Amino acid sequence: MGSGQVTDSSAPFDFRGKHVTVAGLGVSGVPAAKVLHGLGARVTVVNDGDDERARTQAAELETLGVTVRLGDGATLPEGTELIVTAPGWKPDKPLFTAAHDADVPVWGDVELAWRLRDRDGRKAAPWLAVTGTNGKTTTVQMLASILRAAGLRTAAVGNIGVSLLDAVTGDEEYDVLAVELSSYQLHWAPSPRAHSAAVLNLAPDHLDWHGSMEAYAADKGRIYEGNRVACVYNVADKATEDLVRAADVEEGCRAVGFTLGSPAPSQLGVVEGLLVDRAFVEDRHRNAQELAEVSDVNPPAPHNIANALAAAALARSFGVSAAAVRDGLRAFTPDAHRIAHVADVDGVAYVDDSKATNTHATEASLAAYESIVWIAGGLAKGATFDELVAGAAKRLRGAVLIGADRALIREALARHAPEVPVVDLDRTDTGAMLQAVQEAQRLARPGDTVLLAPACASMDMFTNYNKRGDAFAQAVRELGA
Ligand code: ADP
Repeated sequence: MGSGQVTDSSAPFDFRGKHVTVAGLGVSGVPAAKVLHGLGARVTVVNDGDDERARTQAAELETLGVTVRLGDGATLPEGTELIVTAPGWKPDKPLFTAAHDADVPVWGDVELAWRLRDRDGRKAAPWLAVTGTNGKTTTVQMLASILRAAGLRTAAVGNIGVSLLDAVTGDEEYDVLAVELSSYQLHWAPSPRAHSAAVLNLAPDHLDWHGSMEAYAADKGRIYEGNRVACVYNVADKATEDLVRAADVEEGCRAVGFTLGSPAPSQLGVVEGLLVDRAFVEDRHRNAQELAEVSDVNPPAPHNIANALAAAALARSFGVSAAAVRDGLRAFTPDAHRIAHVADVDGVAYVDDSKATNTHATEASLAAYESIVWIAGGLAKGATFDELVAGAAKRLRGAVLIGADRALIREALARHAPEVPVVDLDRTDTGAMLQAVQEAQRLARPGDTVLLAPACASMDMFTNYNKRGDAFAQAVRELGA
């Protein structure tokens, strides 16, 4: 970790009369177009799709005076001086090649929010930022809950579905923001400087977008650039610590680790059922501060305790008291479909972790229970399952496989857990989940957990992971009926 000349590109940017192209309608594009138009820019929106929804959004923007080109996201509009892109747009798109050749800068929604954060003489709220392959949303929500418990005006914003741009340009004033950033958003955001930031973990994901694991890691690592107070990393995941080392930060900024083990100085960790801080205390070589009990974390699964420690580290870096950390964790309830306990039926617990859409998340989920009937499958997105299955084999009572790529999981089970009974469901209709749950019930013994942690995306059978989780919960209710 070096401290160097950190250039601050927060100088006010005058948008009046500028030709700005907004790439992509949708969650970030529409607010970006409106804000830029309001600042006097001449805005053109380009969008690949030309469907019903796009037309409605286009009509609304056109009444404001924004130009919209539907069905053509590839051509750089004449005279463009800046592109503001939706974060998901892939860097190798022709639009960006054209921009590069014409020396036109490209900003994402997060870059735009950062540049606009202290307009009108208002004091800009500092950012406590979180990224990682898994656990971002949960950690950011825990963090916001802790900050609220400390009496601070805050919101959980960013990749979480609440627009960061709205938060920084809206009327509401904040003391501090809990910001979730995806790897895509970080790719397009060279300038943001967080008060403190955390990378929770790093496992291969979205590699088709980033091009390689190195490029993915480098984009995640941007979150540490220019941090002022702390770079929070996962002691169990060396790749996150390497990113801290590579970052250029402000003088005095500290590397702070979190661990499920006993914390060394400058770390937060767990000692005898307590979450403990040895980083933000007087004389950290001799002292430790108790923050909360492990049972204050909901649910107290190992990966979620790690999330709580990361959230606590960020809050503590902002000066939040130990009592507020405890109160905030107690007040927190996870979003739906994230290790959600649905019901107990005949001594068997049914748990919905439909949000476990990749193998890294599912690994954490399977590690949280002793004896599991595992419901898995869907769209594998190029993943392999050998490592996951080999690591969990001892805990599996049985497995029920659903979805398009279930053969990949079946083969991994045959290789690494040949004694585990497997039910392979060759149907994708709406009744498939009910049958999956019934088969799981048949395999389960009292004390077991039936766990929906698919390790796959849901779109082969469901609209999204929410609908998949809802179908599971509905099926469990039918068992109990
Ligand atoms: P994200 O916003 O990064 O997708 P979420 O908080 O929504 O993360 O959790 C997504 C899934 O990832 C959860 O359902 C859970 O299975 C898993 N998960 C959560 N936290 C962790 C973690 N720290 N390590 C590994 N897996 C995790």
